[in-house]
Amino acid sequence: MEALLERSLIWTVVLAAVATYVLVYTVRFRRSRAQAARRLEQNHELGMDRPLGQYPLVDSNRCIGCSTCVDACPEGDVLGIVSGRAVVINGARCIGHGECAEACPVGAIRVGLGDITKRDDIPLLDEDHQTTVPGLYIAGELSGFALIHNAVQQGVATARAVDRSLKAEGPRGPDRLDLVVVGAGPAGMTAALTALESGLSCVVLDQQGAGGTILQYPRRKLVMVQPVEIPGYGLLDRREYSKEDLLEIWERLHRTRGLDIRVGVRVTGIQGERGNFQVQTGGESFSCRRVILALGRRGTPRRLNVPGEDLPKVAYKLIDAEAYKGRRVLVVGGGDSAVEAAMGLAHQPDCQVTLSYRKPELLRIKQRNAERIAPLIRDGRINFLGATNVTAIKEDVVTLEGPDGPVILPNDEVFIMAGGIAPFGLLRGMGVCFGGDQKDMQRSAGRPAAAPA
Ligand SMILES: Cc1cc2nc3c(=O)[nH]c(=O)nc-3n(C[C@H](O)[C@H](O)[C@H](O)COP(=O)(O)OP(=O)(O)OC[C@H]3O[C@@H](n4cnc5c(N)ncnc54)[C@H](O)[C@@H]3O)c2cc1C
Repeated sequence: MEALLERSLIWTVVLAAVATYVLVYTVRFRRSRAQAARRLEQNHELGMDRPLGQYPLVDSNRCIGCSTCVDACPEGDVLGIVSGRAVVINGARCIGHGECAEACPVGAIRVGLGDITKRDDIPLLDEDHQTTVPGLYIAGELSGFALIHNAVQQGVATARAVDRSLKAEGPRGPDRLDLVVVGAGPAGMTAALTALESGLSCVVLDQQGAGGTILQYPRRKLVMVQPVEIPGYGLLDRREYSKEDLLEIWERLHRTRGLDIRVGVRVTGIQGERGNFQVQTGGESFSCRRVILALGRRGTPRRLNVPGEDLPKVAYKLIDAEAYKGRRVLVVGGGDSAVEAAMGLAHQPDCQVTLSYRKPELLRIKQRNAERIAPLIRDGRINFLGATNVTAIKEDVVTLEGPDGPVILPNDEVFIMAGGIAPFGLLRGMGVCFGGDQKDMQRSAGRPAAAPA
């Protein structure tokens, strides 16, 4: 009798444990699915479900809704499960690592650009990466494909295509360069290295510095890299490099290979035609036979255009949060970059952080960031001033205009992280056509164009 009671008790405990586990799992499962659906709706309203470049294309007939892709994404919340299928809920966050595609057990995902006929941000390129303007080429992330290994491969392939077309054209006049490369990121640098190896005369122009977007990464960031061959260096074969390692590689190539890189030079327009282009900058203009645009997609940081914005204490990126211990800092913006900078600064000893955003709430950020910043605001470690606009910056104060009138804050440093002005207007000014123009072009029997490879 006692043994029977004991067995019943054990079974009751086991069944209760299983029932609790199933209940907790079901509640969590339902909650995560409901969150994904809410997030999709919210991001759709904000236009953030739309991807910037390549993104996961999910075959919903094959998808079994197992969530493996959601868990595999290094960016966290690009994909979600809605109505039992994987969907892109935050396309703007996708960098294109493709880990979702690798992880999918049924092969339902591939990473690409999809149908570009509605995309006004994907330039039309032929198989040589030439735009609809003959002699004007595009390499790297500007083509729609992010990631360093894609930029390097495209840089090499595009410079080789330029070399072939120049050789077919015959010798140049002495008065102009063979090639101007605009942008000194991974695509521009490798294009220029390849051009030099082919004996072409080449100048690289960059509005910031050599390294491109890698320069903007936070200090000591670990960068995931797929194996790729860099001209003049060899194979990048480790899975992870620090930001500093990568910059050291570019720096060494710059020093030893004799690249002519002009930094702090912003290209404002390009005129002319194949064989005779004029690349215009704020000052000098460069004559050349071919141009490779390797501008990336991040554009030029958006300025506030307020008095005092040219003071040396104003910056548009945060590289080293530790350097701001004990400082009074204003961060301006309401996206992930601004929020991540504010949180990084708030963790430094005695750093007083104010976050100013023109909208009343922080809606355009990753869920993970929303969850992390809420307690910092609640505990007063970040002074969040929603619905405010900066009106003036002075040596030791900043002035904001808010719903209750002007606010004056003592201040040592200002970070403006209000997004960037995308380079697509510049490209259109040069005559480059985009995916969205394709139908009109076909109608007027223009030159056939293909999506970038
Ligand atoms: C936060 C973050 C993390 C990332 N992490 C990874 C990662 O882990 N692994 C990975 O592979 N990729 C990562 N990426 C993506 C990677 O950095 C980019 O895909 C890559 O840098 C693109 O190279 P690019 O040469 O095409 O352009 P970019 O590196 O963007 O370089 C473009 C250059 O053009 C210059 N330029 C732009 N306009 C002009 C103009 N008008 N005149 C003159 N110069 C101009 C810019 O100053 C810039 O130097 C990350 C990106 C970000 C933002």
